[in-house]
Amino acid sequence: MRWDAQRLDVDDGSLPGMPSIRGLLRSVQVPEFPGLTFHEVRARSALNAVPGDSSMPFPYTINTLRGCSHACRYCFARRTHEWLEFDSGRDFDTQVVVKTNLVDVLRKELARPSWTREHVALGTNTDPYQRAEGRYKLMPGVIRALADSGTPFSILTKGTLLRRDVPLLVEAAQQVPLGLGVSMAIWDDDLHAALEPGVPSPRARLDLVRSLTDAGLPCGVFLAPVLPGLTDDEESLDAAIGAIATAGATGITVIPLHLRPGAREWFMAWLRQARPELVPRYERMYARRAYVSAEYRTWLSARVAPLLARHGLDRQSGGAARQVDGAVATGVPGDEEVGFPEGSLPTAGLPTGGLPGVRPPWETPSPVPTEEPAAEQLTLL
Ligand code: SF4
Repeated sequence: MRWDAQRLDVDDGSLPGMPSIRGLLRSVQVPEFPGLTFHEVRARSALNAVPGDSSMPFPYTINTLRGCSHACRYCFARRTHEWLEFDSGRDFDTQVVVKTNLVDVLRKELARPSWTREHVALGTNTDPYQRAEGRYKLMPGVIRALADSGTPFSILTKGTLLRRDVPLLVEAAQQVPLGLGVSMAIWDDDLHAALEPGVPSPRARLDLVRSLTDAGLPCGVFLAPVLPGLTDDEESLDAAIGAIATAGATGITVIPLHLRPGAREWFMAWLRQARPELVPRYERMYARRAYVSAEYRTWLSARVAPLLARHGLDRQSGGAARQVDGAVATGVPGDEEVGFPEGSLPTAGLPTGGLPGVRPPWETPSPVPTEEPAAEQLTLL
């Protein structure tokens, strides 16, 4: 291949300093993606079973990639890179593991007679539409495989590359229930550049929401994370919620910032340098826990409630225009208390088949080995 000359190594099972990348084929750097290294691996499995005690409303996930070039400072998934003996900072942003054979493995797993066609979620750990997807084009095969097998699925992303697959998703929606979620939170250009340097602009993501809904697809928006003292003023929230409503989102969920280990160090290092006056507040808020206090949650809920109503995205009467009334599935990875926005999960009542934690017979009593410990599969964009 034209970039063979840039191979860092050939698979002998490991690279120096990177013994934990199981199934490594080779590591490459290519001119089209400066600063990134792709570690191509052979996956042994594609479907990851969600732990039985999880409150997530889906029993399976798929992660096509590990690490994320979107490079969000606050990303929950950072620490999972340490299990590969990378660091959770710069390495997470630049050392991306690609499961190159994932579609083939997935098709085999979906073809098993025992597969019960339960809801499979994508984008619960790292973003499937980050830059690597432009090169490896795994998602079209994943979408086709899931739709052809009759498996409902959902995708959560910040990547506008999803637009490439809209025609495919329209076809898939004729075959299976599907849900689509887009995450966005930061509207100030400078803050966006500092905290989400690899993510398409908020405007581009709004355009993505519009493209999806114009195509007749559902699209729930996660307004997340709301940053205390940075993006939680009424004017910012009103502008954000108004723009999301105008883009045609089918629902919205507002989630405050949580700072888990891995993300905490990386985010606080930025805060100390960029907004030192906020450091004492953040240290108080996140001193003993990763999650914001109930007090802040209540305060934020009270602040956004009238804004959601004003823009027709509340779950009560004002939201009826978008059919967002009724029961809402909770268990959002990273914040299990909040509900999924309407449109981000496959439509209720359709054949999702099972409950979280239910494993197909072929995973018991000898589970198919997964590439990743279960806990790392469940974070949020
Ligand atoms: S928050 Fe999502 S988009 Fe951002 S770096 Fe993490 S996985 Fe990627």
